[in-house]
Amino acid sequence: MTVNAALLSDRARGINVSGIRRVFELGAKLPDPINLSIGQPDFEVPPAMRRAAAEAMDARQNGYTLTHGTAALRERVAEHLAWDIGWRVGDGGPSVAITSGTSGALLTAFLSLIGPGDEAIIPDPYFVMYPVLGQLTHGKCVPCDTYPDFRMTAERVEPLINDRTKLVLLNSPGNPTGVVMSTKEVRDLLDLCRSKGVVLISDEIYDEFTFSGGRTEPAIGDASSLRCPSPCRVDGSADDILLIRGFGKTYGVTGWRLGYAAGPSWLIDAMNRIQQYTFVCPPAPLQAGAIESFGVDMRPQVDEYERRRNEVAGALSELTEVATPEGAFYAFVRVPESIGMTGSQLTEALVERNVLVIPGGVFSGRDTHIRLSFSAPPAKLSEGVSIIADLMKR
Ligand code: PMP
Repeated sequence: MTVNAALLSDRARGINVSGIRRVFELGAKLPDPINLSIGQPDFEVPPAMRRAAAEAMDARQNGYTLTHGTAALRERVAEHLAWDIGWRVGDGGPSVAITSGTSGALLTAFLSLIGPGDEAIIPDPYFVMYPVLGQLTHGKCVPCDTYPDFRMTAERVEPLINDRTKLVLLNSPGNPTGVVMSTKEVRDLLDLCRSKGVVLISDEIYDEFTFSGGRTEPAIGDASSLRCPSPCRVDGSADDILLIRGFGKTYGVTGWRLGYAAGPSWLIDAMNRIQQYTFVCPPAPLQAGAIESFGVDMRPQVDEYERRRNEVAGALSELTEVATPEGAFYAFVRVPESIGMTGSQLTEALVERNVLVIPGGVFSGRDTHIRLSFSAPPAKLSEGVSIIADLMKR
């Protein structure tokens, strides 16, 4: 008997290499590409965070921590949440857990809520991991078509809810579109979820990366500080919302694999039990680094990305549909019908011109768009945008 790939589970066979990785492979063949495919910011990690992580290593904080993270980081997250969304962690209120990346929180949340036959409603277009979470849990991810404006409104979600639905997954600011929901939209979606008895999961990994037009809601603890609209701020209750945020995108530490989840303790406890036997705990010294993030002002970097957003949206919206990204660092740009190409075909034509983007089909049931990221050096970004604009004019 031979031992070979026939042994692989149906689960493993059902999961393909991410379309993003495929573009990376194409890009590896180009000597000096204009790379607009990258999903992480291009600025330096704040020195205070680097120093704190290095000092923790030197101070021998290299062993396991508690499953749900160090008390110091959890306390700092709890303080931030009280200031931002008014949640009082502990004492019968919401719980907080530090997770192995935002992905770790999403996975343990799905494993806690979704089993065979259960349904989760996800946006389409979506972050590439979302549909795979359905495959991994033997549940079903039901896409909510949000074209052409990419808003996951209660109106669009309601017809998809049935008695198998366990959760609705919202992502604002969104990947791949950068679209930010309004206060009314998040409130209506939360009301809908409550009326149907399903959990609303709010993936806010890009919350700090919200541009001036998207920052419309004051932080609870500082009425003068405008933040990204969040369903968590609606009425102060955490009984039925799972908030998931991360450190990677905001501070350029995607490789640190750190995020956090906050929500009802019955759900956070279940996620912790699963984390205990999978990720075990988040990386110890890097949790010390993450504590410092709360004292870092990222506004200059966010402003710089807003400037790049203005440039990209300004140049391309003359030629095609671009839903204005009010956050994150992506634009999801429609391929003009006049050029008769799919997103994948345009991506290939761009590779021939040394530009890397991601075809919309990687994030969606449709292949009508391309995603480009602003996290390239400004001169390269401008060059890439003018090559894309050129192709779109044909
Ligand atoms: N959610 C969204 C919307 C994302 O774009 C990403 C990363 N691209 C993640 C979650 C996962 O982030 P992390 O690296 O923290 O696991």
